[in-house]
Amino acid sequence: MSNPFLKQVFNKDKTFRPKRKFEPGTQRFELHKRAQASLNAGLDLKLAVQLPTGEELNDWVAVHVVDFFNRINLIYGTISDGCTEQSCPIMSGGPKYEYRWQDEHKFRKPTALSAPRYMDLLMDWIEVQINNEDIFPTSVGTPFPKNFLQVVRKILSRLFRVFVHVYIHHFDRIAQMGSEAHVNTCYKHFYYFVKEFGLIDTKELEPLVSVLAGQQEKGTLRPLVPGPRCPESTK
Ligand SMILES: [Zn+2]
Repeated sequence: MSNPFLKQVFNKDKTFRPKRKFEPGTQRFELHKRAQASLNAGLDLKLAVQLPTGEELNDWVAVHVVDFFNRINLIYGTISDGCTEQSCPIMSGGPKYEYRWQDEHKFRKPTALSAPRYMDLLMDWIEVQINNEDIFPTSVGTPFPKNFLQVVRKILSRLFRVFVHVYIHHFDRIAQMGSEAHVNTCYKHFYYFVKEFGLIDTKELEPLVSVLAGQQEKGTLRPLVPGPRCPESTK
């Protein structure tokens, strides 16, 4: 696409995807409202992520995955004009972490891509998963597939990389826009959620280890220093 205006419009559309919504009246909509209510009430995030008594784990997880996707997609959208082929020619988290893309279509082998390209593929891929009725069934009584949590682990590991890139490469922009607190809360919520249910390997979480550590020390989250290099991971 050579027309710069069209390109911008196109990118905008890609960035601000329509949110996947929960249908009012469904059990999952009620769960979503319940999860939101406990957050709004200022409940400790560590407690807010716990599975409410009597609820199914898969339902609880499904609601959160969709919600995190919507929120993280929006966060990336707010900084995406500063995340370009030029500024971010590789999808990295500082000098020590580089993520390579792999899928079942064009990139069968882990492939180094620019951050915006990687993000585009990542968001597209997640969108396909959460809109797939076989994986995220919306109708009452339709069971989740046996590999549901396996798919969820992959989705969340990939979403985590968006945080890594945004925190390490675009934190100034976040701070400049005054959305530091919002992003930090979203990250904390995400972190406690994946820890509660063991949905991301500890090794994957290493690049942002100092985000929460910094917060405990200083009472505020800070931009981080990347941890030791971890092996390339594309899963
Ligand atoms: Zn970037």
